[in-house]
Amino acid sequence: MPKLSVAVVGGGIAGLSAAFDLQRAGHNVTVFEAADRWGGKIYSSPVGDRLVDAGADTFLARVEPGYQLAQDLGLAEELTTPVSPVPAYIQRDGQLHRLPQGTFLGVPTNFDLFSQTTLISPAGIKRAQQDLTLPPTDTSGDISVGAYCRARLGDEVTDRLIDPLIGGINASQIDQLSLASGAPQLAAAAKAGPSLVQELSKMQARIGATLGSASAAPVFYGLPGGIARLIGALVSELGGSGPGDADLLLGTPITNLTDLADFDHIVLATPAPATAKLLAPTSPNAAEALSLVEYASVAQVTLEIPRTGIEPVLDASGVLFPRVDGTVLTACTWFSTKWTHYQREESVLIRLSSGRFNDGRAFELDDYSLVDRLLSELKTVFKISAKPIATRVHRWHQALPQYVPGHAERVDRAIGAVAVDQPRVQLAGAAYSGIGIPACINSGRDAAARIIRMFG
Ligand SMILES: Cc1cc2nc3c(=O)[nH]c(=O)nc-3n(C[C@H](O)[C@H](O)[C@H](O)COP(=O)(O)OP(=O)(O)OC[C@H]3O[C@@H](n4cnc5c(N)ncnc54)[C@H](O)[C@@H]3O)c2cc1C
Repeated sequence: MPKLSVAVVGGGIAGLSAAFDLQRAGHNVTVFEAADRWGGKIYSSPVGDRLVDAGADTFLARVEPGYQLAQDLGLAEELTTPVSPVPAYIQRDGQLHRLPQGTFLGVPTNFDLFSQTTLISPAGIKRAQQDLTLPPTDTSGDISVGAYCRARLGDEVTDRLIDPLIGGINASQIDQLSLASGAPQLAAAAKAGPSLVQELSKMQARIGATLGSASAAPVFYGLPGGIARLIGALVSELGGSGPGDADLLLGTPITNLTDLADFDHIVLATPAPATAKLLAPTSPNAAEALSLVEYASVAQVTLEIPRTGIEPVLDASGVLFPRVDGTVLTACTWFSTKWTHYQREESVLIRLSSGRFNDGRAFELDDYSLVDRLLSELKTVFKISAKPIATRVHRWHQALPQYVPGHAERVDRAIGAVAVDQPRVQLAGAAYSGIGIPACINSGRDAAARIIRMFG
């Protein structure tokens, strides 16, 4: 059978997943990666004497592609789940407030849950309850998550509960995050009926009924040694003897698609700005649409601290620091409470996150000042009396695409233009329809499937 030759540009999880399927289908792939390592935003590096995730540390278990890829790579048996239960806290006025049970990404699914927490004031709760009686909110034209939640539940619940979770995941400002693309479940609730809380509650009940006993199944997975082991396994599979050949080229940025003229097909699994540059000469409309996708930069400080040198030792996966308080610190993840594979008798392992869309303060500080600043903000809720045993600072420039209102239309425009102007090219990666690892795997595998189907 004649084989296709396919160039994959970008060696992140999306590009490598595409390459993996193409090679398994018997085609020859060449992966071009600009950096000197594989994995893009998935990366583990040493903190003290062990490897710790510097980017993603987990992926959603209830959507197929992440688990499926782990299974295809022989890693499914090793997947671990966070120590259960994994509640989180939200900081307010120097106090830790438990995130109440029964929210969907911070959005309440019933009003009783407010009795579990002191996070929201009586006035804030009263305003949120108006969700039951207010007329429907007009969400046509793709409004922001913030605009919709503020209209339904008021500012306090939006700023103190919803923004730290939904905004935190995307490093976004939910007032600039598309309801349709950034929180499709909330968009579906908005379509279903006027009350956000009631519609989410119905949705949860339906999901619970569909899952049945599976609703006790894991929600998140991690891997001992770091999620980056997925990348190592992909690279080693591609480097092995597959039905097709794979050439894996590090330190090889592609700057012009004409350099790939000899390939039958091309998968562009690069972030939107790089993809826009590559497409500009031949598909200006796609390039223009993609150049509008902006990114947030984030910086992470990971610390190993003697167990006796920090108080309290958190009984949860972490603490969120709401944007309205103006801290540079956005979250403190307690890796050593969240994951058994990061636990040690004598020390704790925590990761301090900073940086949001349109908040570049972390990048104005040098590493030393950044650690100092984040620790001083952390000290508003923890007593820290010992020096860290190990410290790692990792800066992710232009890391997380921002799905601002109108995102889906821009993506459709880009994909439509490429299909006409550059039918040999497929687009994949976090810039399009989901920034999470499963969505990125899916986009890479879908790109490969389209090429394989075209081949017949
Ligand atoms: C700090 C952080 C924490 C996260 N946490 C989670 C999490 O816990 N769970 C989760 O599901 N998701 C998480 N994410 C999101 C997820 O990790 C990313 O969205 C996903 O890994 C992106 O994969 P990708 O392949 O689309 O892009 P990338 O990983 O960005 O890969 C693109 C690759 O293309 C290369 N490239 C760019 N230009 C060129 C060029 N011209 N030629 C050749 N190569 C080029 C880049 O060097 C890069 O390696 C996190 C992201 C960050 C930054």
